[in-house]
Amino acid sequence: MTALLQPAPPLPAPVLLLGWYALHARKLPWRQTTEPYRIWISEIMLQQTQVKTVLPRYLEWFATFPTIEALAAAATDDVLKAWEGLGYYRRARFIHRAAQLIVADCAGRFPQSFDGMMQLPGIGRSTAGAISSFCFNTATPVLDGNVKRVLKRWVAQPEATDKALWLLAQQAIETSGEPATWNQAMMELGATACSARSADCSACPVNAFCASAFQVDTASELRKQTPVLNVYWQVELFTCPERGIWLSRRPDTGIWAGLWTPPITELGCQPDAEPAHVHLLTHRRLHLYPVESAQEPAGEGRWVRSIEGYALPTGIHRLLDKVVLI
Ligand code: SF4
Repeated sequence: MTALLQPAPPLPAPVLLLGWYALHARKLPWRQTTEPYRIWISEIMLQQTQVKTVLPRYLEWFATFPTIEALAAAATDDVLKAWEGLGYYRRARFIHRAAQLIVADCAGRFPQSFDGMMQLPGIGRSTAGAISSFCFNTATPVLDGNVKRVLKRWVAQPEATDKALWLLAQQAIETSGEPATWNQAMMELGATACSARSADCSACPVNAFCASAFQVDTASELRKQTPVLNVYWQVELFTCPERGIWLSRRPDTGIWAGLWTPPITELGCQPDAEPAHVHLLTHRRLHLYPVESAQEPAGEGRWVRSIEGYALPTGIHRLLDKVVLI
């Protein structure tokens, strides 16, 4: 592992980034509040899900679960249903469990301290740093994927360790004078001008302090990321005009844990035929091959006349849109 260069390049003057953020920040609903429940939900939704996907679901979430108490009292299936389309449903399970703990142990009040937040399932150091700074303006840095990339580029150290990056992030936020806005600005820079797919250095407010300015090779960086594995799944479609479609619940662990799908069998090799649908996850590319069957289904499951009340993964919705009329 490579340590950071000593001495590290000078950090940009905070006013440069903060001034840029004041002018260019996207107006997003979770930036208009300091209420911990709303900030918490936004931070979890935004992990691994794009802003444009999160936006409508974020607003719907609070219509369905207006308070932490309402969320804690909800059935797991209803929480998963509300999460539909956001992917990585483990996050929804963590949120649900955390809400129950908050109600049981903290009378429904979201923890005010960084350490208290870290006790909750699904909240790690970076997420606790974000919530704590946005709600209470603490100098607790965020170190998500976007911020890591920005920091690595600032110091031109693509192999910098997390430990070194945490130190750098802490140093930067402490000198910023405005911790909450600093974290927002770092995340915004990583999501826009300094993204994984492009580095728009000419529009970047800190290019004079960046050791990688105008030298980033995004194609090379992307090639070094964890490769995406191809997975081939046969999806068995048992349908019947009177009874609807046969769904079974996925196991509690693994891809699409706990969601409802037609029975799925993993194929050992790539079929000759084209898949009816390809669904991309962060590290998996799921090739879905539907097989229609007129036989009676075996194993656990149920006939469903309407899939409305069931939490189905987006990949299965897309597949059913293409091949099933129910
Ligand atoms: S100068 Fe370029 S590489 Fe450096 S932080 Fe700005 S956009 Fe990223």
